[in-house]
Amino acid sequence: MSIKDNLIAINQTIPKDVTLVAVSKTKPNEAILEAYEAGHRVFGENKIQEMTQKWETLPKDIEWHMIGHVQRNKVKYMAEFVSLIHGVDSLRLLTEINKQAEKHNRVIPCLLQMHIAKEETKFGLDTSELHQLISSETFAALENIKVVGLMGMATFTENKSQVRKEFASLKTIFDGLKQKLPNISVLSMGMSGDYSIAIEEGGNMVRIGSSIFGARNYS
Ligand SMILES: *Cc1c(COP(=O)(O)O)cnc(C)c1O
Repeated sequence: MSIKDNLIAINQTIPKDVTLVAVSKTKPNEAILEAYEAGHRVFGENKIQEMTQKWETLPKDIEWHMIGHVQRNKVKYMAEFVSLIHGVDSLRLLTEINKQAEKHNRVIPCLLQMHIAKEETKFGLDTSELHQLISSETFAALENIKVVGLMGMATFTENKSQVRKEFASLKTIFDGLKQKLPNISVLSMGMSGDYSIAIEEGGNMVRIGSSIFGARNYS
């Protein structure tokens, strides 16, 4: 199947109000252009340098999402153009994004990343850190970022009920957070292997790479 066929097939399985982020990390411009020519405009990358190179060389109506872990000293490279930063997991990072956004006269939409998986290695906040962050005066004073929702990654496991439980827990946190931040609307959860479960549990943004572009070769 071509990239275009994969996109058509996946779009048929997701509701209209769910945003598909095509995760193009490690893939060349030609692959992205194939998806672009099929009408797709929202792409996700996990390395700031790679995303910036692609932004410089590809059509300017592409929306670039940063889905990976963000190093504070690299925020400046994407502040001009990034559409949504999914992996924000500290007030220090949010403060740096705010600072760099201000230089470009922008308000950058961000998602706070929650730690919902069993694995120690996955990044993200726990609920007490989340509430501490959003209750702080520093957070209230940031005018060049806008928290528009939450992101999370489930445990990498064949155990579907475990994955479902983790997504459900993120949805519960999301609904609770809405009481304090009524304008949040985005719940980013689900990848190639588990996006159907994520949607069933209330996710409205899925990040899909290998099912669109094929397996990645890391060399
Ligand atoms: C790579 C990646 C994805 C996409 O993974 P696939 O299994 O290829 O769909 C989604 N989210 C994040 C945060 C990623 O790093």
